[in-house]
Amino acid sequence: MNTILDFLNGGLTHAGWLGKLIYFFVVTQLTIFAVTLYLHRSQTHRGVDFHPVLAHWFRFWSWMSTGMITKEWVAIHRKHHAKCETDEDPHSPKFFGINTVLWKGVDLYRVASTDTTAIEKYGLGTPNDWIERHVYSRSAYAGPTLMFVTNILLFGIWGVAISALQMIWIPFWAAGVVNGIGHWWGYRNFETADMATNLTPWGFFIGGEELHNNHHAFPSSAKFALRRFEFDIGWAAIRLFEMLGLAKVLRVAPSLDVRPNVQLPDAETLKALLSHKFEVMTDYFRGVIAPTLREEATNAGNGIAAIPRRLRRALGNGGRWLDNASRERMAALVEHRPTLRTVCDFRARLATVLERNSGGAEAMLHSLTEWCREAEATGIHALAEFSARLRGYALSPARA
Ligand SMILES: [Zn+2]
Ligand SMILES: [Zn+2]
Repeated sequence: MNTILDFLNGGLTHAGWLGKLIYFFVVTQLTIFAVTLYLHRSQTHRGVDFHPVLAHWFRFWSWMSTGMITKEWVAIHRKHHAKCETDEDPHSPKFFGINTVLWKGVDLYRVASTDTTAIEKYGLGTPNDWIERHVYSRSAYAGPTLMFVTNILLFGIWGVAISALQMIWIPFWAAGVVNGIGHWWGYRNFETADMATNLTPWGFFIGGEELHNNHHAFPSSAKFALRRFEFDIGWAAIRLFEMLGLAKVLRVAPSLDVRPNVQLPDAETLKALLSHKFEVMTDYFRGVIAPTLREEATNAGNGIAAIPRRLRRALGNGGRWLDNASRERMAALVEHRPTLRTVCDFRARLATVLERNSGGAEAMLHSLTEWCREAEATGIHALAEFSARLRGYALSPARA
């Protein structure tokens, strides 16, 4: 009797609170990695291939800790990319409302998984070996049951609570937060046709899935962090597996490259500018606006510090986030500085060229060529230099 009570109280480990907490975070993080690395980046988008042993471990672990079937997960997610923000999107906050996607993401997933036609159509190429047919797909519930038994063995009665938390935790973060908030709130690097957002620049907690706007811009890229200040822990793991010979990266998003001596902007320039709009505008601020500001401040004899930092920054986006009073101050600042005014006007014009999607590629290219020609005719050195660089912008794969 005592032995049984003793077992129920602490299982085989008799771990304290800290031990249980560490265990919980380790197992849930392993699940997050299995989802982002295996189900998402490898199986769904084919951005990376894992060594069969590691791939199988991920498959086993996602079965054991969530009971999700690879084919279903892949199909539902591919359909999300294919039908993003339409009424056929399995989990668009635009259609279902943010609360439904955030809190009831699992229900949406379950409904989507009953659509066998879509599962067959979008789930092509997923594992269909003996163990998949006889164990993982056939007895999806056996996985979480095995997890439950393991938890009880390790922690006694506490294993029940740990299992319950596990079953809430993963769906909430993976389905609710990524699919919900990741299409609803955050910042955007890329003007993708959907509403995908990056939640935080540091994808640390949800395996890098935080960078959901980047992911929608380059779905088959194994790497989600695309700006210098961004971090993707999933990519760090892939690099580690690669070093150990356990992973092969198949695709990485192209980065912005500059071809020397390109006389006129071409289709390649346009493609690069459109996919890296945000970076182009940042380049413009650093390469044109900031040096102009410094030069004008020096000429006026009162240094750059005389202009508040917030106003200086705002010049980079046309004062988009300023309140009215500050915007007026910004206008006054520009008013008496003709060179600064010119470079700010050119910034606004460039932004318009890149945002106007209606005229098609040819019209856009035409406006861009005009922009370059006029920019170089201003006689403003920094502007002309930027224009020459811009003509040569191209996409280059960050790695093979
Ligand atoms: Zn999405
Ligand atoms: Zn995806």
